Amino acid sequence: MEQELNIALRFNLAIGKVNLNEIVYKLKELRDPLQLRILEQILTAYDDLIVERLSRTDLYPSKSRKGLGRHISKDSQDRYCRGRKIIKRGYRKKNRRISTVFGKLDFRLRVAQCCRCGAYYSPLLNALEVGSYSRKESNFEQEVIEAVIDTNYRRLIDGRSIDISLGGIHNIVVGSDIDKALPEAVTSQDLSAVMADGTGVKQQGGRKGELRAVIGITKAGRVAPLGCYTNTEWPQIECSIKEKMKDAEQYNIPFIYDGEPGLDDFLSDVAQSQRCTWHGPRGLYHALWEDGLKKKDSQPETDKIRQMIGIELPETDFEVLKEEDKQDVKNRYETSKSEIKQLISTFQEKGYRHGASYLVSLSEKLFTNIELWLRTGIIAPKTTSLLERVFREIGRRLKRIAWGWSDKAVTNLSKMILIRQYSRDEWERYWKEKLGIKGYFSIDIQSVKLAPCETF
Ligand SMILES: [Zn+2]
Repeated sequence: MEQELNIALRFNLAIGKVNLNEIVYKLKELRDPLQLRILEQILTAYDDLIVERLSRTDLYPSKSRKGLGRHISKDSQDRYCRGRKIIKRGYRKKNRRISTVFGKLDFRLRVAQCCRCGAYYSPLLNALEVGSYSRKESNFEQEVIEAVIDTNYRRLIDGRSIDISLGGIHNIVVGSDIDKALPEAVTSQDLSAVMADGTGVKQQGGRKGELRAVIGITKAGRVAPLGCYTNTEWPQIECSIKEKMKDAEQYNIPFIYDGEPGLDDFLSDVAQSQRCTWHGPRGLYHALWEDGLKKKDSQPETDKIRQMIGIELPETDFEVLKEEDKQDVKNRYETSKSEIKQLISTFQEKGYRHGASYLVSLSEKLFTNIELWLRTGIIAPKTTSLLERVFREIGRRLKRIAWGWSDKAVTNLSKMILIRQYSRDEWERYWKEKLGIKGYFSIDIQSVKLAPCETF
């Protein structure tokens, strides 16, 4: 059904005095009120069209009333009435107020009476899929959530007289089905590595909680969110991640972590553990400190480690790489491995117990990315730096808004931040589905032209 909406705007300008900024400034002020007026007109037109079809059953066949006029039967409070013919009964006394992204809309709600059961209802609300008591549309939800994520929700709310409290935002976040936007399954073809780590978050009553995240790194080096968890044990997290990875029995990709003991065997049957090479030297410094070494004494040892693991991989395509370049990497890899072995026995001789055992566990999982590259040519990350960046982004936002939030809120909000930041397409798809946008409404600008003012 095509209809046209005519908008008449009147403007008055002081010739020779007004500048571009003032014109744009005033147009900006017009934006939301104008959209509200347009929305009001479209809703009125929709109401008229629906009511026309439902009341003029002599003109419209039952096919054209499909999807219209559903209402609960007057006689039974839980069954739908099959009646699809109505009589117009005027308008509700009180305007219906709905919060939208443009601000609050007050509009007259038409009432109809079913000819079959006699119930009074509003055919428009039913067609709009707005519940009898709902006072909001859901674009509003998306805008609020995005504003929260961008940490400028104060401005959104103040600027548009949208009334939502932190408690209201909390409810939206907790009730969200954002899990739908996370991948159900990932294949080994998609990923070059998996990372996991945790970070502290402040929660209800200042309680300190732990947020844990697992991300995949795609072959193109992009972050692929796999899951966020608040105050959840690693084995439980491992189960949920494994479920997503069930299509391949052996992923053969590195799992990178910073040495947290709870992660030593994480995903060990589907991935190869890789200790973060950036954290390696720091961990060694700490272990040697436990052995009683001062910084100036441990520095040469940590420097050695930093050098051994600093093997750079050629960025040239593996297939076209010269054999001697591959051999180069292989030589450095083997040298480093034997140097670490030597260092371990030196530590043992000197009685650096902590240092030696740290190095033993580190050395087993330090060159996974080199081994993978030598075997397949895949360049996987070797530090958790990408995940740390992700945590910084989540942390910065949570700190501003999440104080006093529950586990579920922290978990969901973290997922939202991740998905919006790194899976923008998925984010858009999630909201489109949630909003029920299927291409049943379109609107565009036909013409905007000057006309002589009627009052002249
Ligand atoms: Zn009825």
